Amino acid sequence: MAAIAQVEPLTSARALRGPFDYALPEEMRERVAVGSMLLVPFGRRELLGVVVGLSDASAVASERLLAPRRTIEADLPQDLVELAGWIALEYCSTPSRALSLVLPPGAGAGVHGLEQLVAELTAAGREARTSGVRLTTLQREVLERLAHDGGTPAAQTGAAHGTLRRLEQRGLLRLTRRPRARTPVHVAVGARRDGVLELAAAQRTALAELTAAIERRTHEALLLHGVTGSGKTEVYLRAAEAVLAQGRGVIVLVPEIGLTPQTVSRFVERFGDTVAVAHSKLSAGERYDEWMRLRRGDARICVGPRSAVFAPIERLGLIVVDEEHDASYKHEGDPRYDARHVAARRAALAGAVLVAGSATPRPESFAGMRRLRLPARADGGQLPAVEVLDMCGVHGALHDRTAAALGELRCARGKGIVMLNRRGWSNFVSCRSCGKVWGCPECDVALVLHRAEGAISCHHCGHRERMPVCCDACGSRSVARHGFGTERLEHELEAALGGGDYPIFRLDADVAAAKGRAAAVLGRFDRAACGVLIGTQMVAKGHDFDNVALGVVLDADATLRFPDFRAEERTFALVAQLAGRAGRGGGDGRVLVQTLAPGARSIRFAAEHDSEGFLEGELERRRALHYPPFGELIRIVCSSESAELAMGAARELRARLELPDAAVLGPAPLFRLRGRERAQIVIKAAERLAAVAAVGEAVSRSLGRDVAVSVDVDPQ
Ligand code: ADP
Ligand code: ZN
Ligand code: ZN
Repeated sequence: MAAIAQVEPLTSARALRGPFDYALPEEMRERVAVGSMLLVPFGRRELLGVVVGLSDASAVASERLLAPRRTIEADLPQDLVELAGWIALEYCSTPSRALSLVLPPGAGAGVHGLEQLVAELTAAGREARTSGVRLTTLQREVLERLAHDGGTPAAQTGAAHGTLRRLEQRGLLRLTRRPRARTPVHVAVGARRDGVLELAAAQRTALAELTAAIERRTHEALLLHGVTGSGKTEVYLRAAEAVLAQGRGVIVLVPEIGLTPQTVSRFVERFGDTVAVAHSKLSAGERYDEWMRLRRGDARICVGPRSAVFAPIERLGLIVVDEEHDASYKHEGDPRYDARHVAARRAALAGAVLVAGSATPRPESFAGMRRLRLPARADGGQLPAVEVLDMCGVHGALHDRTAAALGELRCARGKGIVMLNRRGWSNFVSCRSCGKVWGCPECDVALVLHRAEGAISCHHCGHRERMPVCCDACGSRSVARHGFGTERLEHELEAALGGGDYPIFRLDADVAAAKGRAAAVLGRFDRAACGVLIGTQMVAKGHDFDNVALGVVLDADATLRFPDFRAEERTFALVAQLAGRAGRGGGDGRVLVQTLAPGARSIRFAAEHDSEGFLEGELERRRALHYPPFGELIRIVCSSESAELAMGAARELRARLELPDAAVLGPAPLFRLRGRERAQIVIKAAERLAAVAAVGEAVSRSLGRDVAVSVDVDPQ
């Protein structure tokens, strides 16, 4: 048994070069393996560390070797330790930061399995029910209930704690502490079809391909390219069944659980307790419990957002990435990993099948994966007709035709969804006399009005101040509000359509800030007989509502105005996805798209539901410009309180970079964010690992105390 553990201590310091050797005392040797977690002395501190290797000898003299203080109960599967090592290299981060991604939730923070009191009848208690012992009505009820239900958590007996304790003192019942599984509650939302569905022909073919790959037990990556409403979820469910039958496990990645409660509940309905749900809004204890259920093998399917790619499942057979185009799969924070890329790596290491599904797949996936097509809606319905409305010269938020369509919808008591990808009341406020625009003191952006809160706030850093009543520059009382956000749209539609029993619902990040609110709004819209749901891109995320007769996209080209090579792809996905919400579950759907750029490729192709046409053109463009997947992008941002320092550091970095096979663009200034001036360099390289290594080398030496550097490999 190995005497030395190679331990990676968990710290955020970049300069640390681990792993470090520790001598294992005799009694630890049997228990400690790769993936074990230890508390180790480190300098003057004690740190949590992960064992990344074992050995019989160390290069460090034995009298200088320290021993771990103790072992921690939870441990990591070995393949997750390996995966973390890969992430550290792939995303130019550190082993310690990468390992922190795969730890059990709350590791080191003292989260334990919660306990609860359970009440059970004793033999005397059972007798007391008939023997004429004196009991109050309440006491009798408790005993009857326990006799009927068996052991019951104290909180569910319907009796106060004192009542139970008195019965315990009389020897009539027993109270014991037992571990409690904090099973989270899921709200079912969306169309339900009773019984198990008969698959459509295209679903059958896709499933057959998928199960054949699963049976081969070797790694393969497949793209399930199915139009909106084509029944992709049913294909995932059956593929998952096949994997469970082999005794292997499944990971299902979804964009955000709060916004995709349907997918979660379909898995829970089909597989029950075999499903663990990973969800950032669960309490730390709940997340720990779910993690342990997976680690022990009690649960073998994990459904969750991007971090679920690290679910501690051994013998993994399948990873599903649902709505694979969704931006939330990219993690913003060191390491800036992309869960889709990590999923591919993990599947490859495990010999598992990866299936990415979308109606609007990314060009990268379209080019790089074997494709399974679902060309039509599963219920036999048609994709809705889309009409593009030119907004040039139109004042106000709504085109005449949109206003008319909404009016007709109200008369017909139908359901509609309106998307405007901008929250708040108006985009900015200005002074009519002197022209002052209220901006964020920390960022170079305008503040957005949120009328209900009486505040203007920054959508980048969260800075808030009171809504101005007069101009602090010139004293004028004339403050103008410009543009439309979801809050104002809700107000206007409320005035135009609402009232009586025609409800208007709103869903955006402001509404969804409260736990469970997003799912609640989606649920209410789903159950409502009629009404309009307005919101940001949150309303376009894969929801499956019956009988949505009208879909409307306002300001569809807003995303096109961002200077980003993915702007087209995002715009296409947003419009096509919103269009995909209409006309499900019988009944026709109709979609209106308002835009200042009616001729834009992304909008034209989305209106035709032509994702192949769009993707082929997009790939040509990317090939010509050496963008992914035909080249690798790395973005480095230097930030500092001083613009000169940020720019100087970026220039210095550029000079340090030795990359024969790459183009280096910049440095270019970026807008100030959270009080920091920024400058960026973008590297376009032919070969990823070499470029990442060169960048890692360049940023490993300091650029001065007042400069921070962040590296984003494959920025989104
Ligand atoms: P997608 O994820 O492809 O947009 P969903 O998986 O949400 O589509 O399925 C859309 C709807 O079609 C769901 O209500 C689902 O229950 C239903 N559905 C799936 N497969 C079939 C089928 N074979 N026959 C009838 N309805 C189906
Ligand atoms: Zn003014
Ligand atoms: Zn700000």
